[in-house]
Amino acid sequence: MMGLNIVLLFKYVPNTNTVNVDPNTGTLVREGVPSVVNPHDLDAAEFALELREKYGGKITAMIMAPPNATKGIEFLLGMGVDDGVLITDRAYGGADTLATSYVLAAGIKTLEHYDLIITGQETLDSSTAHIGAQLASWLKIPYVYYVTEASLDNGALVVNRQLESCTEKYKVKLPALITVLMHSHPPRPITLENKLRAVIKKPVMMLTNNELKLNIQCTGLRGSPTVVAKTEFVSKIPRKKEIIKDKSPQEAAAWLISKLKDEGFLN
Ligand SMILES: Cc1cc2nc3c(=O)[nH]c(=O)nc-3n(C[C@H](O)[C@H](O)[C@H](O)COP(=O)(O)OP(=O)(O)OC[C@H]3O[C@@H](n4cnc5c(N)ncnc54)[C@H](O)[C@@H]3O)c2cc1C
Repeated sequence: MMGLNIVLLFKYVPNTNTVNVDPNTGTLVREGVPSVVNPHDLDAAEFALELREKYGGKITAMIMAPPNATKGIEFLLGMGVDDGVLITDRAYGGADTLATSYVLAAGIKTLEHYDLIITGQETLDSSTAHIGAQLASWLKIPYVYYVTEASLDNGALVVNRQLESCTEKYKVKLPALITVLMHSHPPRPITLENKLRAVIKKPVMMLTNNELKLNIQCTGLRGSPTVVAKTEFVSKIPRKKEIIKDKSPQEAAAWLISKLKDEGFLN
């Protein structure tokens, strides 16, 4: 096997430290909100880079998103991925996970060859963790979630999947899809050398529906069976903050216990 051709999927998400929700529509207010590469996808990027270092090959970052997500591809190029594909078209806007994975599958089918698709565990802004399984179903390839390690064995991939209380080991035929366990692979920093290479080579390809030629009844809002029926806001719980000052640890603990008793939390 001559190296691994890896497709790294990522999402460009609103920075949730600054995002707000429109109280009338219940949707995210994205305007004016800076976006970042979904942090869990950076673990996936690091995982992909380590595999390329071990086995050689190539990493293509791919996203379905509005054009500003090119900045996300540039970030990943700075980390060291080889090239990027931006899938963008007005007909893909407002997509739920089904319509998103449908378009991503079509984008992947345009690639000459791929061995492994790597995604993050989930996103910060929707967190369904649907995309991996749905995409693998469209492509009819095996998939494993929560992967922490992977190695090649006679052209197949052996992976460790981390569950709450145990680790499972699987051997899957390639091509396959894996999602990388969040926080398992802290990302390397971007480098000037990688950024300069990206500026010179401009390795970002754009695909629209002119190329993918999908039935637009199956994409975007029209192709999305998910309907958000209602968004409820949970009112803020009033806090009775009190700051303990000028007390020894013993006195502070005794004071806290008496307060908890007063409030009925302790007998
Ligand atoms: C009715 C409805 C309407 C919506 N309208 C909009 C809208 O107008 N605008 C909007 O931005 N979102 C919209 N969404 C959210 C959108 O469906 C999801 O953001 C998207 O389908 C991905 O799901 P997720 O974020 O839960 O990804 P997950 O399944 O949690 O993601 C798992 C992994 O898949 C990969 N991945 C996820 N999304 C992408 C992507 N787009 N490209 C490449 N890789 C990806 C990443 O590696 C990620 O870590 C809508 C959702 C619903 C239900």
